[in-house]
Amino acid sequence: MIQEYLKFVIVGHVDHGKSTLIGRLLFDCGMVPQEKIEEVKSICASLGKEFEFAFLMDYMEEEREKNITIDTAQTFFKTAKRNYVIIDAPGHKEFLKNMITGSAQADAAVLIIDAKEGIMEQTKRHAYLLKLLNINQLMIVINKMDLVGYKQQRFEQIKQGILNHLGRFQLLPNYVIPISGRDGDNIAKKSEHLPWYNGPTVLESLDSFKQQVSVTDLPLRFPVQDIYEIDGEKIFVGRVESGLMKKNQKILFSPTNKIADIKSIKKWQQQLDQAESGHCVGITLSDATGIERGQIGSGTDDSPQVANKFNDTIFWMSPESLEINEPVIFKCVTQEVRAKIKKIHRLMDSSSLQTIIGRDNEIKETEVAEVTIETENQIAIDDFNRLPELGRFVLVRNDDIVAGGIITLE
Ligand code: GDP
Repeated sequence: MIQEYLKFVIVGHVDHGKSTLIGRLLFDCGMVPQEKIEEVKSICASLGKEFEFAFLMDYMEEEREKNITIDTAQTFFKTAKRNYVIIDAPGHKEFLKNMITGSAQADAAVLIIDAKEGIMEQTKRHAYLLKLLNINQLMIVINKMDLVGYKQQRFEQIKQGILNHLGRFQLLPNYVIPISGRDGDNIAKKSEHLPWYNGPTVLESLDSFKQQVSVTDLPLRFPVQDIYEIDGEKIFVGRVESGLMKKNQKILFSPTNKIADIKSIKKWQQQLDQAESGHCVGITLSDATGIERGQIGSGTDDSPQVANKFNDTIFWMSPESLEINEPVIFKCVTQEVRAKIKKIHRLMDSSSLQTIIGRDNEIKETEVAEVTIETENQIAIDDFNRLPELGRFVLVRNDDIVAGGIITLE
């Protein structure tokens, strides 16, 4: 099995303590060498500042950016029970974008709320995006309890507020935990400052989450990324997004419906009998005619749907709004095609969740819209809830990602 990590995201309003919580998790799990801490402490001292885990994260980030072989969008740590990846580590400006366009689907999420400041618009918006993205293992952490005198009453007030909000779209968190990321209260060990709280710590809660079904158990999807020709033979290169691909099996390419036999599967110089989701491979085919970059390979009996008009939900991220019938580029895995929003069925404010009445020709920043999209050519798609890899897309305008969306097929 390729996915041996539990992948999660930490979301919440800016400054509510995401970086600090990550720094604390890494530190408490023994992932940060003592000399790193000392280095950062002495830098802080020379600047006349107090040590902060957020600085430690910035410092480590800078170091990682110098080393281009490491993916800076992911942070790894482990507990006695298993390995974790925090995807879309904050500090990345594209945080919200990454979250909705997410290259990897998170198994779980942590929503962080500052105990002093309380629930903000962005807290509500992020919560709704988690629902939209179908992430249903959720931990709420109410952070900076030290700033409110560790008071249970303040905790209960925020807890009730967020439960009410989540209840509006039927999202029930698994845990609501009072913490102080800065001081390590209820992160790896129970806090003496919060004796009224009897639930699990952050690490205990994370350890209880389950990894989602391995995408290997899902139908095969192999988007063609590139085609090389070596010694007169075409090699189709791409990443197995879901499912399992086997040598000698029949593979169908959408949207053209070309069928061929897989003659060989190669990874670097190595010949494979099969490749599973997550693997980047090159394959040769019994008949390579008409198969182009962007097409999607699948089994012959469970291929994606082919359409040029379909319904979906989009989250608009650009400060400049979109008008109906305005041209945009629709991108879904390796497919790229010109598209237009033909109809807006429902518009919603992603923070208040109020339906916007009386406007059906324009979508504005941070609004969520249920729409019908029409693409210039036929493309291969899946329902997001069944196969997220081919059920999510982005819209691009002037080389800028302006919206993320999920496809709903009835
Ligand atoms: P982010 O923007 O969500 O990543 O927030 P940061 O982790 O950068 O934290 C913002 C500020 O809040 C920093 O100055 C942190 O030191 C501070 N902070 C974070 N967690 C705590 C906490 O538990 N208690 C207190 N008092 N301050 C905290």
